[in-house]
Amino acid sequence: MPTHIIGGGLAGLSAAVALTKAGRPVLLYEAGPQAGGRCRSYDDRELGCRIDNGNHLLLSGNAAALDYLSAIGARGTLGGPGAPFFPFMDLASGQRWTLRPSAGRLPFWVFSPSRRVPGTRAADYLSLLPLLRANGAEVLEDLLPNGTLRRNLLEPLAVSALNTPPREARAALMAAVMRETLMRGGSACVPLFPRQSLAETLVEPALRWLQGRGATIYLGRRVTDLSIVDDRIASFGTTPSRVTLGPHDAVILAAPPWVAADFLPGLVAPDNFQAIMNLHFGIEPASMPPEIARAGFVGLVGGTSEWVFLKHRHLSVTISAANRFLDTPPEELAATVWPEVCSALGILNDMPRLRVIKEKRATFAATPSQDSRRPSASTRFCNLFLAGDWTNTGLPATIEGAIRSGGTAADLIVRPR
Ligand SMILES: Cc1cc2nc3c(=O)[nH]c(=O)nc-3n(C[C@H](O)[C@H](O)[C@H](O)COP(=O)(O)OP(=O)(O)OC[C@H]3O[C@@H](n4cnc5c(N)ncnc54)[C@H](O)[C@@H]3O)c2cc1C
Repeated sequence: MPTHIIGGGLAGLSAAVALTKAGRPVLLYEAGPQAGGRCRSYDDRELGCRIDNGNHLLLSGNAAALDYLSAIGARGTLGGPGAPFFPFMDLASGQRWTLRPSAGRLPFWVFSPSRRVPGTRAADYLSLLPLLRANGAEVLEDLLPNGTLRRNLLEPLAVSALNTPPREARAALMAAVMRETLMRGGSACVPLFPRQSLAETLVEPALRWLQGRGATIYLGRRVTDLSIVDDRIASFGTTPSRVTLGPHDAVILAAPPWVAADFLPGLVAPDNFQAIMNLHFGIEPASMPPEIARAGFVGLVGGTSEWVFLKHRHLSVTISAANRFLDTPPEELAATVWPEVCSALGILNDMPRLRVIKEKRATFAATPSQDSRRPSASTRFCNLFLAGDWTNTGLPATIEGAIRSGGTAADLIVRPR
């Protein structure tokens, strides 16, 4: 009784890993020439090196993501500063600081001026309590305290976690992220990212692990439709042929929400998205502030760039909630971003070779109304389950949410309720 998984992003791959671990046969159909979906890497001719579609940061509190990496033997491919350590710079004032949450649940770090955001007091951090209690349709704008803590920490964290401007973003989703990371203390906030590339950490080890255990992976095989008979999926089309399901076969649909809505008329799913821009610059600077060299990245406030990551033979800049830049020509955006990178790293270089990747539908917009459109993993069809960061995981669209969603769908098949 095989499970057919449609979509080879992290949700599909994690479902495949969970089912294979449970001894279930798996066939995975991915439309693209490579797996990974929104977490992918490729050799870029212009820059002459391998780049990721965009920078992806995990935190040590992302338990499902770390379990997945351990299962596929890729936990050791993650790098990072090895401690809760977040260098920041204010591009407007030139001020630098490093946020260093203390390890345990008790937030001793907020009492230490050298560990917290400069210009904030310990009492300011109490203003996070209403945000942590958010569970309705409140937006972040209404619950974020005004002042330095908001500008120099909460907004940058919220925009990168939710990929949505605070005036629109559902506060409860941020609260969920904070409960699993910052509120568990620094030991759940250690930044982690692939040492080489997304593919080497999250995708290729999974494919090797799955294929080594008998799973069938079809790349370049787009699923075209689902055929429904009574309360079950009876067959589905793929680019070369049709697959007819046996009486005990199951399907996990782990494709994006617009594909799922197309296959399943009447499905309510997120239909509004936010972009992420990544600007990759072909330069590996010889020197930089030691905190940035140690962390491998720096957070920026007061400008356009939000995060700069140091990569193999290039630097990579992220701008989230970036629908506002969709029509900006890449060179124009780079002309704003490159001087910011130079200030942050303390370098004086002409703009190097450049690749701009605009992910137009990087994530669903994490607004209260979009969040209310997220379906659960089980469907009204007895052999069809949904997975993807856009399903109702309780988290914003993240690697952790995507991987958890794959596990949930697999679990419904292995342990039917
Ligand atoms: C630039 C960028 C930066 C990000 N940064 C972070 C970060 O720092 N931290 C973090 O946690 N998250 C981050 N994310 C979010 C994270 O990448 C996603 O949440 C996650 O990758 C979603 O995985 P998924 O499997 O749900 O969806 P997808 O990756 O979209 O996978 C769906 C797959 O289905 C395939 N497919 C589509 N149609 C069909 C079809 N008809 N037949 C077969 N296959 C089909 C697609 O090709 C794709 O491979 C970022 C996303 C982007 C774009």
